[in-house]
Amino acid sequence: MRKVLADSPIANNYMKTCPSQKRMYPTEEIAEDALIEAHMRFEYGKQGGPIAVYLCGDCGHFHFTSQGIPNKKLREHIESGKMKTQKLAHQWESKIKKRF
Ligand SMILES: [Zn+2]
Repeated sequence: MRKVLADSPIANNYMKTCPSQKRMYPTEEIAEDALIEAHMRFEYGKQGGPIAVYLCGDCGHFHFTSQGIPNKKLREHIESGKMKTQKLAHQWESKIKKRF
């Protein structure tokens, strides 16, 4: 048993769950990084997908949210072209072009 605990000391923290059933992130920075990573990895539809992070009052951790103001880091990441795949940036660009 001792060996198992030593192998994964952090894993125990993640056994805590939130009533929201959302994935928990210990800090805002980690949540933001995960948010950016998620956007690099997945193609979110028009309105789907998380755009920001928030501090949860129930569990005291950070979660993604699809509502509110898009996260500044995420926007900067997309606008500066840092996205590895560039997919999302292109999608947003074409949406903007169509709109104007
Ligand atoms: Zn929570």
